[in-house]
Amino acid sequence: MGYPGIPIDPEKRPKLEPGGKELDASGMYLLPGFVDMHGHIGGKAQGADPDYVFKLWMAHGVTTVREPSGRGVDFTMDLKRKSEKNEIIAPRILAYTGFGQGADGGISTAAEARAWVRNNASKGADGIKFFGASPEIMKAALDENNKLGLRSACHHAQLSVARWNVLHSARAGLTSMEHWYGLPEALFADRTVQDYPLDYNYNNEQHRFEEAGKLWKQAAAPYSDHWNAVMDELLALDFTLVPTLNIYEASRDLQRARRAEWHEDYTLPSLWEFYKPSKISHGSYWHYWGTEQEVAWKENYTLWMTFINEYKNRGGRVTTGSDSGFIYQLYGFAYIREMELLREAGFHPLEIIRSATLNGAEALGMDDKIGTVTKGKLADFVIVEENPLKNLKVLYGTGAIKLTEDNEIARVGGVKYTIKDGIIYDAKQLLQDVKEMVDAAKEKEGYKIRQPGVKD
Ligand SMILES: [Zn+2]
Repeated sequence: MGYPGIPIDPEKRPKLEPGGKELDASGMYLLPGFVDMHGHIGGKAQGADPDYVFKLWMAHGVTTVREPSGRGVDFTMDLKRKSEKNEIIAPRILAYTGFGQGADGGISTAAEARAWVRNNASKGADGIKFFGASPEIMKAALDENNKLGLRSACHHAQLSVARWNVLHSARAGLTSMEHWYGLPEALFADRTVQDYPLDYNYNNEQHRFEEAGKLWKQAAAPYSDHWNAVMDELLALDFTLVPTLNIYEASRDLQRARRAEWHEDYTLPSLWEFYKPSKISHGSYWHYWGTEQEVAWKENYTLWMTFINEYKNRGGRVTTGSDSGFIYQLYGFAYIREMELLREAGFHPLEIIRSATLNGAEALGMDDKIGTVTKGKLADFVIVEENPLKNLKVLYGTGAIKLTEDNEIARVGGVKYTIKDGIIYDAKQLLQDVKEMVDAAKEKEGYKIRQPGVKD
């Protein structure tokens, strides 16, 4: 590919082997394939088929996805094996089964937890996604999982977090935390439980998300002794953060998330229905969401981002994960938004690319195979015509807006090629396939093509 302006000595070029294909990427930018550390393949409630989700990911350079609990281990393992053989167009998949998923009657003892963990490993899963449980069960499950050499993730749901926060998890051997729940609770200095209204109802999602927006303020202040001590202990335990900043962004700016320009062409009508204010869909907590809630969440973000950026500065591993398919966040597009939010948190653009590639590979235990452009590793690459370090927006499928010398408005960027296992995919064609799926679904359901959510 060479460097711009530096001619390549034809004698020194690697020779194309017979049967190989040479791709002219002169003047383009090549990055390692992206790792989405929190990618749900799509649930029935969203009406999103795997093919739709996979193409959106691949169109945005995502070549590896960790699925943190999906439609069950058998469903995910089937897709994982097909992707491994490249029988389908899909990123490589790491299956982290939802803890307790498939167990009859739930898990209520340590022995049951251990048995579930062994069964999960025997099915070929790569790890477990926890949502929090009682301390005895968390300890037993993590212990058994670590003995088997598998990895783990946890969304520390608010129900169990007063007794078991991120620090308990990290000490017990959890390898990564999702989102941010459980971290402010580990940082409590003048309380032991969340200061929620006394009629708080976790099943009322306006309650749940509105009160969550006031949590970081209840934690120890940035750079205070307790804040530093918690951070240093997590660092010493080599604990990985998967913040998924984008998935809460509608909480601080609902209009931005709702009106994102890609919804028009790429959001399925069923997904749009799922996003709409609802007491039924998860993450559709807009019973009455206004200025007060958004301002609280903006403060929440500032404190949260301060922790993440400093964790990175002290040598901690922060990865890039999207959690799309909820809260107006669309597969692939939301991954690029996650990069932009890491930038807002204070990451240098190169630190973001490392977070999206090598850090993810390390967290998955795959840094001998993926994460950098290195001879001997798998050929997973992202190729783009514009410099993504100068403007991360060029990685969005819809590209970035740029005025030409002649005062014409142009769209530049969008990933050009995604290469997985050495197979070259035309990223723009993948997006076109998605648009056709969406158009067909809208026509079938009587939607206007250009406007999501508006029925004729
Ligand atoms: Zn998730």
